[in-house]
Amino acid sequence: MKTSVLVAGGAGYIGSYMCKLLARRGYEPVVIDSMVHGHADAVKWGPLYRGCISDGELIDHVFGRHPIAAVMHFAAFCYVGESVTDPVKYYHNNVANTLGLLRGMLAHGVRRFIFSSTCATYGEPEWIPLTEDHPQRPINPYGRTKLMVEQMLTDLEHAHGLRSVCLRYFNAAGADPDGELGEDHRPETHLIPLALDAARGRLPEIAVFGDDYPTPDGTCVRDYIHIADLAQAHLLALERLLTDGPGGRYNLGNGAGHSVRQVIDAARRVTGRPIPEKAAPRRPGDPAVLVGSSEKVIRELGWRPEYADLETIIETAWRWHREHPDGYAA
Ligand code: UDP
Repeated sequence: MKTSVLVAGGAGYIGSYMCKLLARRGYEPVVIDSMVHGHADAVKWGPLYRGCISDGELIDHVFGRHPIAAVMHFAAFCYVGESVTDPVKYYHNNVANTLGLLRGMLAHGVRRFIFSSTCATYGEPEWIPLTEDHPQRPINPYGRTKLMVEQMLTDLEHAHGLRSVCLRYFNAAGADPDGELGEDHRPETHLIPLALDAARGRLPEIAVFGDDYPTPDGTCVRDYIHIADLAQAHLLALERLLTDGPGGRYNLGNGAGHSVRQVIDAARRVTGRPIPEKAAPRRPGDPAVLVGSSEKVIRELGWRPEYADLETIIETAWRWHREHPDGYAA
């Protein structure tokens, strides 16, 4: 019998690609997704249960039907701006519902957990590249919700032996290299898909949020990481937990910074199309530079990114947007 892995949020952008990779490696991905932001068409490699991760009856049903060995948790709201204007929504979904899921796991004796955390748990960087021992002082509710879950996980390990790997993502980007899965956020707020929307004429231009940051070209610098490389790190974390290895906290980035202008220029080169840009005010809560060191995950989990190059990342996204002009709605 296949080993089942519960993928909470498996109908979303990163979770759906994770399911594809799990299936390829011989696992059964079992998805629970509220379908608030998920897409049923992105769930192709295992069953989909629609509902809330903290619904005890649903958890009993799913854990009763599948031999779940571990849980990967991608189900969260992730808009920083919205977390500032509607913090209740974020604390409820990202913290309270995650606690419900953890309680359900403990009730069923499942004690392996892989958590999608974020570089937003660090707040304003005191040094670059960020290392895992950097102080965690998030500057918005979104980052705080993720840090609270990391802290809960530390306590649950002490109390109940629940081992967890927290992966602190930098900027997740790109699409399935096979062209089958990709980014379809509504509303879309991320730089690369918006720049590609401008390249295909769906937007008149791309707004550059701030051009007076203390960076070489004045625009914000970020560390972009391909979703396939993120998923690969989850798989390595899973295999470590399945072989009774310890949990841990790891950054996931490429250690290379690209400014907003460099990203837009790369999108122009990849698409061969003009992308008009306009200067816009800074977006509140954006640090000037966020670049992470991934030395620890390379050293301890043997992670090797395959799609580290920015143009390659954008190429995979461009293929997805060209072949699926209306995302999953098509
Ligand atoms: N950004 C921008 N224009 C946009 C969207 C994003 O200039 O229309 C900038 C944003 O201020 C940040 C970078 O692009 O510096 C990456 O933002 P994104 O929303 O893609 O990811 P985040 O860093 O918020 O996770």
